[in-house]
Amino acid sequence: MTSQTSSLYSQLPATDRLLRAAAFQPVLDSYGHSQVVGILRTLQDEARQTIRESQTLPDWCADWAKETVSRLQSRTQSALRPVYNLSGTVLHTNLGRALQAQAAVDAVTQAMQSPVTLEYDLDGAGRGHRDRALADLLCQLTGAEDACIVNNNAAAVLLMLAATAAGKEVVVSRGELVEIGGAFRIPDVMRQAGCRLVEVGATNRTHLKDYRQAVGENTALLMKVHTSNYAIEGFTKAVEETELAALGEELGVPVIADLGSGSLIDLSEYGLPKEPMPQALIAAGVSLVSFSGDKLLGGPQAGIIVGKRALIERLQTHPLKRALRADKMTLAALEATLRLYLHPETLTETLPTLRLLTRSADAINEQAQRLLPALQARYEAEFTVQAMPCLSQIGSGSLPVDRLPGAALAFTPRDGRGSRLNALAERWRALPKPVIGRIYDGRLWLDLRCLEDEAGLMEMLLQ
Ligand SMILES: *Cc1c(COP(=O)(O)O)cnc(C)c1O
Repeated sequence: MTSQTSSLYSQLPATDRLLRAAAFQPVLDSYGHSQVVGILRTLQDEARQTIRESQTLPDWCADWAKETVSRLQSRTQSALRPVYNLSGTVLHTNLGRALQAQAAVDAVTQAMQSPVTLEYDLDGAGRGHRDRALADLLCQLTGAEDACIVNNNAAAVLLMLAATAAGKEVVVSRGELVEIGGAFRIPDVMRQAGCRLVEVGATNRTHLKDYRQAVGENTALLMKVHTSNYAIEGFTKAVEETELAALGEELGVPVIADLGSGSLIDLSEYGLPKEPMPQALIAAGVSLVSFSGDKLLGGPQAGIIVGKRALIERLQTHPLKRALRADKMTLAALEATLRLYLHPETLTETLPTLRLLTRSADAINEQAQRLLPALQARYEAEFTVQAMPCLSQIGSGSLPVDRLPGAALAFTPRDGRGSRLNALAERWRALPKPVIGRIYDGRLWLDLRCLEDEAGLMEMLLQ
């Protein structure tokens, strides 16, 4: 060891001394002895290694307390970090889909902090199961006889099939054997549920007679799957749920439907693309209809099944229901969300998903114009910043061909280099509250449809 390196080693403060230093007292108060000591051990090792390899001290040795706090902060950062979703997709699966209504937030908080009557009835009437109160509400909203709630719509599909068709055949159109993403494919779910898939029709066209011919002794169900994430155009034919329900009635075979998104309100009345409504399918005679809680409904992640009492009873008593059941927080949020639908006149204010989806292009453009000057001033050295019209997506498997006109702030590199866009996107992702945009067409776009906290965003972007 040279005398130079040994003098560097002797400059490393002992951990004991650091822990007694005044600068470390607030750190110890915030994070506790064991975490701080753990970090200090790592730092001591790193410092020794640097001395060994490059005969210098790391720069951070000037302030051990500061480095310790910075390491602790990055270690204790939550895995679920709040971000600005300016991606242009409202129901973004990777960003957690629907934002919850205030009423749902309040209901969850209460259910978390206090014992609740989850499976306990105060009047001794015997509620039966934890979905009871919600089921009554869902019946009121959809006209169904009963309902069942599980963890998500994928679980709903699995439970519907397992409880009503295990060991039997389920008839599905070839055009509806969809993959939803995350390895959820209808044929695979069928197999997991113990059902035998009987495909009918062709990819682009399926007729009522195809279903009729496929029904035999062993047929348990006719199934419709909403092709939510793609569209077949051109020479196509699909059998409507109403027609299929009539056929099922005639042949004595129940018809079930996986709606995916499913909306309890007629979205076309709000100027949005029409999505199928569970109540319309129930009215048409479909026996079971499933849809997601956190897609267009705007509630928590959940799978909702509404339909005929006898079939729902089979779902409720199937062993898988116990494995797939929703927890009290989900049920609390879902109930509060559904209650908002009892007062549809105020939904565009009370339900964040609908509030964001129904923002007008004019309103979003005004917002873009308002934010523009400050951003131009901040970024002019490297980028031209413009307010531009854009098209947002609903997301989460609502028809990808339906777009919502809005406005975005578009950042174009002055030198035309694409690497500048990636660098900017990366910089924004590293902000205390990361800003998520979208790169296309040689620009980085911040779609403002989902921007409600304007001041907070500007604080981030003007740093
Ligand atoms: C989204 C979707 C699912 C899965 O729903 P999750 O709530 O995400 O589990 C299933 N089927 C269809 C048609 C869907 O669109």
